[in-house]
Amino acid sequence: MKVLVINCGSSSLKYQLINPSTEEVFAIGLCDRIGIPGSKFEYEVPATDFELEIEQDLPTHKEALELVLNTLTAEGHGVIGDIQEVDAIGHRLVHGGEEFTESVLLDAKVIAGVEANNDLAPLHNPANLLGVTTCMELIPGKPNVGVFDTAFHQTMPAKAFMYPLPYADYAELKVRKYGFHGTSHKYVSGLANELLGNPEHSKVIVCHLGNGASISAVKDGKSVDTSMGLTPLQGLMMGTRCGDIDPAAALFIKAKRNLTDKEIDTRMNKESGILGIFEKSSDCRDLENAANSGDERAQLALDMMTYRIRAYIASYAAAMGGVDMICFTGGIGENSDSIRAKSVEGLEFMGVELDAAVNGVRKKGSVKLSTATSKVAIYKIQTNEELVIARDTFEIVK
Ligand code: AMP
Repeated sequence: MKVLVINCGSSSLKYQLINPSTEEVFAIGLCDRIGIPGSKFEYEVPATDFELEIEQDLPTHKEALELVLNTLTAEGHGVIGDIQEVDAIGHRLVHGGEEFTESVLLDAKVIAGVEANNDLAPLHNPANLLGVTTCMELIPGKPNVGVFDTAFHQTMPAKAFMYPLPYADYAELKVRKYGFHGTSHKYVSGLANELLGNPEHSKVIVCHLGNGASISAVKDGKSVDTSMGLTPLQGLMMGTRCGDIDPAAALFIKAKRNLTDKEIDTRMNKESGILGIFEKSSDCRDLENAANSGDERAQLALDMMTYRIRAYIASYAAAMGGVDMICFTGGIGENSDSIRAKSVEGLEFMGVELDAAVNGVRKKGSVKLSTATSKVAIYKIQTNEELVIARDTFEIVK
């Protein structure tokens, strides 16, 4: 089976053509700056190392997807003879609200149900659904499956997902914690359970640290808490997002600086986090390089970021009554040995011991980073959200 995985943003379209059974990736790529001058198209065939990067006008997602489909079937570097060889399309959908607790076959009724949650993710959901309708138009007759970022966290108990606001805000407005990065937390915690030997009871903490970052507590394979909330702004300090702050701070800044709702939202989502403190970049590599060269602000941002990760790990261990494995994933979690080290520094009191030598070695895949005597296993695990989407799509359409 060949599943086309689509991750459609407002001005981008990421794609992969995958065999979910063998995990083979036939092609992978990206359309960037759709509808913006300087559109870019990238295409790669992992089996042959063929790579294509071109600048091409892509006024809408339709032209972008047409280019993807034409390239997948092109003579020479194409990977399929005909678009009919695509058996199904799997879409990343950000917000499924409370209605969607698992992946779903998409039809007009289900799409209307997803649209009902657009208020909860105004930037993401409409863009995701644009990918769905464009695929339905350009690849007619093939099943489309939606895989939600929020679905894996729908197992959280009410004591974890409720905010202590007036109950009517939950009952009438659905204001609560939903959590995001669900496909990554599901994949990594699933692998963690395999590595633990699939015990009947397990307590796993997944630290997904990328430009967006979230932590989850996964007990017996089910998400019981996670750091992101109603929106992906809550929780850890991220590339440009502030994460946890006193909500009154936002109101105070808004009033003092005479900002509009949109401006304070932009300040918290796009101008805060690493960028807000370091001021020179939101990228973790730049941050680490600057800190290593003695930049005090970079060091402060690093200290703040890892302090918060450590506090979340300890709090989730407390919430679950222990922890068997701590996993690091995402661009930062998989690649930065120093951030991993600082994130578990001081947790020896709960039996967490990092093997500094192994942690420093660059190796792909799943790597055990804890010492032989550590009571808690520490792993870095390469996440694979596209594979989860392809697998769920396969399960639903097979
Ligand atoms: P993601 O959103 O998962 O793609 O992760 C992006 C983040 O990972 C960026 O902040 C990158 O700077 C960071 N990152 C990627 N490679 C490294 C590395 N070798 N060391 C530190 N951070 C890295």
